[in-house]
Amino acid sequence: MTGSEKLFQRAKTCIPGGVNSPVRAFASVGMTPRFIKKAIGDRIWDVEGNEYIDYIGSWGPMLLGHSNPIVLEAVERAAREGLSFGAATEREVQMAELICDMVSSVEMIRMVNSGTEAVMSAIRAARGYTGKDKIIKFSGCYHGHSDAMLVKAGSGVMTQGIPGSAGVPAGCTKDTLTAVYNDLDSVRLLFESNRDEIAAVIVEPVGANMGVVLPTDGFLEGLRRICDENEALLIFDEVITGFRLAPDGAQGYYGIQPDLTTFGKIIGAGMPVGAYGGKREIMSMVAPSGPVYQAGTLSGNPVAMAAGLAQLSYLKNDTDFYDKLNRKCDKFFKSLKAIFEKADIPFCLNHVGSLGCVFFTDKDVYNDAEAHTCDTAKYASYFKKMLERGIYLAPSQFEAMFISQAHTEEDLQTTLRAVEHTLTEMNA
Ligand SMILES: *Cc1c(COP(=O)(O)O)cnc(C)c1O
Repeated sequence: MTGSEKLFQRAKTCIPGGVNSPVRAFASVGMTPRFIKKAIGDRIWDVEGNEYIDYIGSWGPMLLGHSNPIVLEAVERAAREGLSFGAATEREVQMAELICDMVSSVEMIRMVNSGTEAVMSAIRAARGYTGKDKIIKFSGCYHGHSDAMLVKAGSGVMTQGIPGSAGVPAGCTKDTLTAVYNDLDSVRLLFESNRDEIAAVIVEPVGANMGVVLPTDGFLEGLRRICDENEALLIFDEVITGFRLAPDGAQGYYGIQPDLTTFGKIIGAGMPVGAYGGKREIMSMVAPSGPVYQAGTLSGNPVAMAAGLAQLSYLKNDTDFYDKLNRKCDKFFKSLKAIFEKADIPFCLNHVGSLGCVFFTDKDVYNDAEAHTCDTAKYASYFKKMLERGIYLAPSQFEAMFISQAHTEEDLQTTLRAVEHTLTEMNA
């Protein structure tokens, strides 16, 4: 047994499924997970000492690469001043000012500890503000694991092929309506049959938890219009896309202003952080300034704020960061596409900026049903062969590939060569 296999044996006896989050299990690709020891730049090492080029990046946070010195230094400095006070700090004010400054739709923001909490709280604020109960989400979008959002969810829920979750009372999901991604008619129908009852529509402006699914022309604009016509709020879940596609996230990239936005992942730079924010009038509903209760012992934690501030400040100050990153990734995905075309394996490559995904299907993928046409066994085989070649991809067809600033031209080329060899082997 390898070191990872031994650890997994031990883990399975004391942690459900041996992992602390289902997406980390390699079950859907029929393997045992690698246990990771350290990560620097675009590389990670497992406990056996194998080195990989990493395309998970902790599922998004590591936009500047692993162990970025700027972030590490900020964390070390903050930690020496104390780990948590349960009291207000200057860094929280700086963080709120910075995000409000970078994202124009956000006038006030509240820090929480995860993306799940951010979404759960944003929905509570939307319901409190509108006085309505129903929420529309999209099938295949993942918004964390709070009860009301575990309906036709993406990510690990989709990978395991379970429709929702056991343990969620019907009462908790009866106000969650699901529409089809990129299908405005499905949204209009729900508004018609639930007149004056819908508090908000929540959407991943780029679907990044059913593989990567881009919004078609007019989809996000259409949602904005339908919400306005019905006095419902539009919530962008930018836990993945926030600060990844542009300094003002997918909303800046596509030019649509939501009423509320949820953040996570990148804003913590690897520390557990989430946040929700938006219009002053809505956010003023949150306690202690308003009647919508939401709290957190470790919210705005000084070490987590230091990490996030360091990363976001860097992103703000490096004015051609996104141009450079997105250009590098565009070039990579174009080459990747050419290699798949040559290999004569049915595929659909969706990508935007530093997010991408190869679906093993001959269909175009615009929603979760189309994503489900994929040959997941083929993906598993691709994943395994790539891992053997030192390329660490997501252990599921229904997750994104995350590229960071730290991915060097040389490592991207190495990756493309590994894809070429892998596809030749798969065709043999
Ligand atoms: C990861 C994710 C979440 C949940 O965030 P956690 O920090 O894992 O709770 C919510 N929404 C989206 C779009 C995500 O990708």
